[in-house]
Amino acid sequence: MPELPEVETVVRDLRPLLVGRRLTRLEKSALAMRRNWDDRWKKRLVSRTVRAVERRGKWILLDLEGPWMLVHLGMTGQFTVASSKAPRENHTHFIFRLDDGDAELRFRDIRRFGSLTVFDDRPTLDSFFIASKLGPEPFGVDAKYWLDALRSTRRNLKATLLDQTIVAGVGNIYADESLHLAKLHPGRLANSLTAAEAERLRLAVENVLTQAIAHRGSTIRDYVGGSGLMGGFQDEFGVYGRTGEPCRGCRSEITRIVLAGRSTHFCARCQKQRG
Ligand SMILES: [Zn+2]
Repeated sequence: MPELPEVETVVRDLRPLLVGRRLTRLEKSALAMRRNWDDRWKKRLVSRTVRAVERRGKWILLDLEGPWMLVHLGMTGQFTVASSKAPRENHTHFIFRLDDGDAELRFRDIRRFGSLTVFDDRPTLDSFFIASKLGPEPFGVDAKYWLDALRSTRRNLKATLLDQTIVAGVGNIYADESLHLAKLHPGRLANSLTAAEAERLRLAVENVLTQAIAHRGSTIRDYVGGSGLMGGFQDEFGVYGRTGEPCRGCRSEITRIVLAGRSTHFCARCQKQRG
């Protein structure tokens, strides 16, 4: 599932291809996505010019000079600009023609856990994020906020990092990688961390996400960036998906357990249960 680094890569790829371009036509498949489509939105979108492409958590935001388009890639979403002459792959649910003739903005999603929705204006979009209690972006999180958030939950660290209301954008891969970098056991209770450990984790999350963005995110299954290029961070993983392989730090075998209903990978030697 695309997490913050993958979504950020899509946004950075799309920005130069979309800003200043007008959406001239929309073709949409009849299949339902995770969030409902309103037929009136087609009229709201067509002939709008893209003013900006932004990211918030795992969401992609398109500023259309009035209305805003909000896209979530779900598990298998691909949001790309392609030549209209490039073959249309199966499971392409939205195709926007762009005014520069040859290019199309396409949203493809095999599993259809993704969504494309439209908001009338920025305040309406902001209300959506407020209602969903989306937490702060993980870069430059206030240290006091972070410590308080960890201290006020009774959950383990893995579940806490996955909670989008505590910090936006971290998912299964980057939770495991951050905990490994911070040398903290994923099953440890968040409220048991010392202030120094909490700070180590806050910086590890930033560090891992920054590195992953520099590698254009991780391609596990279907993820590609906005220009169709794959990510490369999957080759840098310390623990994720490396069950039985040696830890890059201590050579112990990486262990896999299930926590918060999710596959969780860690090094039992570098990440001891007790700090
Ligand atoms: Zn280790």
